[in-house]
Amino acid sequence: MSNVRVRFAPSPTGFFHIGSARTALFNWLYARHTGGTFILRIEDTDQARNSEEFLNVIYDSLTWLGMTWDEGPKVGGAFGPYRQSERGDIYKEYLAKLTAAGRTYEKDGAIWFKLLGERSEVFDDHRKKIVTKVATAPTVIDDQIRGHVERVEDEDFVIFRSDGNPVFHFVNVVDDIAMQITHVIRGEDHLSNTSKHVELFKAFGAPVPAFAHIPLILKQNGPGKMSKRDQGALIEEYQKRGYLPEALVNFLSLLGWSPKDDREKMLIADIVALFDFPGINQSNARFDDKKLAHMNMAYLLELPADDFVVRALEYFEKQASPVTAVALAAEPTYLREVLLLSQPKIKSLEELPAYTAYFFTEDFVVDAKVRDKVMGKGEPKLRLAELTELLTTADFSSDTAIEEAIKALAAAKGLGFGDYQSVARLAVSGTNVGPSLTGLFRVLGRERVLARFSRLAAA
Ligand code: GLU
Repeated sequence: MSNVRVRFAPSPTGFFHIGSARTALFNWLYARHTGGTFILRIEDTDQARNSEEFLNVIYDSLTWLGMTWDEGPKVGGAFGPYRQSERGDIYKEYLAKLTAAGRTYEKDGAIWFKLLGERSEVFDDHRKKIVTKVATAPTVIDDQIRGHVERVEDEDFVIFRSDGNPVFHFVNVVDDIAMQITHVIRGEDHLSNTSKHVELFKAFGAPVPAFAHIPLILKQNGPGKMSKRDQGALIEEYQKRGYLPEALVNFLSLLGWSPKDDREKMLIADIVALFDFPGINQSNARFDDKKLAHMNMAYLLELPADDFVVRALEYFEKQASPVTAVALAAEPTYLREVLLLSQPKIKSLEELPAYTAYFFTEDFVVDAKVRDKVMGKGEPKLRLAELTELLTTADFSSDTAIEEAIKALAAAKGLGFGDYQSVARLAVSGTNVGPSLTGLFRVLGRERVLARFSRLAAA
């Protein structure tokens, strides 16, 4: 183990969104890359806006994405407790240290942090009031991503509110000191807080951790940062929709980081091996749901058959809709074949129930537009009759056997495979999209196929 200690420090004030997950991931990746420690710390001092339910969303989402934490709630550790709401005594102790060092004072019931430097009263045009300015040298931040940043921190600030609760800046820094955090990896929106934090570290005589402020995630369309209200922002949504966590993690890793060699789909072990600060971009990343869907499809396609079936069944069970109930009641080997036939065709598991519905009922939906188009062109009923004759005796044991038989039939009639395809597909599935026709035949089996043919022929 290296001495690297990083933390993900969410405030449980809402749902767990893409931005939080990406911050968590970059911390987790850095810990795993360096052999360091990944800490989960809950910044829940703002009682009113926190709830246990939100906490569970954080735990569940992190666990689902495979970001296990080495220290934190549920797992414990030598630097706990890991919820700020349980660390009140520690904050008082640290406040006493600052006070003993002459760096605090009370004003209007609040406790203020005192900057070092000469003071003067000036009128602030913006705030329209007289404020006390402190002549200080700029605070320097050598950010691992932004580089050299300077900011002038020239006003004292509140560290304990008049209601007795400590302020974010104070608890954030105290915990980073107490938990011996070596690297603070967080969203760029916090860069504006960092000079305050650095001044606090110095006042405590504590080593200042390395900072890495990661670029913002912009919303898919238009300017501005992605917020939890944006479409596709919530992690639990992807979980519900049957996205593969490994695909989402791969996608998240590329929101602001790249291995610099055009690779996109990567094993998590490779991402861990390559992940480091120089690979993180300074420019903002843009969320792209098509890219995510594509990534998910690529992962689905590569899943070994057994694994795919297990995940698909899990998804069906969770869904518990009339459609999935019927599917789950089907004969297991048949169900498995149906799922595997659909594997290369779907972008996410959420498409599966609708995509496979006609395999499990004779009462499937027929797309009227497709029917009118297919039945209105050429001699579809004649083609169906020819196919019926062929498939009554054809070898159904493999896709190629079925395909060869249809091709031979088409050749004998001076036609192509396509002349049989659309009417046959309409008959067995009620639509014009789906898995390969021969695969459809093989999995549905002769009996179902012929029954569906005759139903369309009689319509
Ligand atoms: N609780 C802060 C947030 O949710 C964490 C800031 C930090 O990582 O230092 O943004």
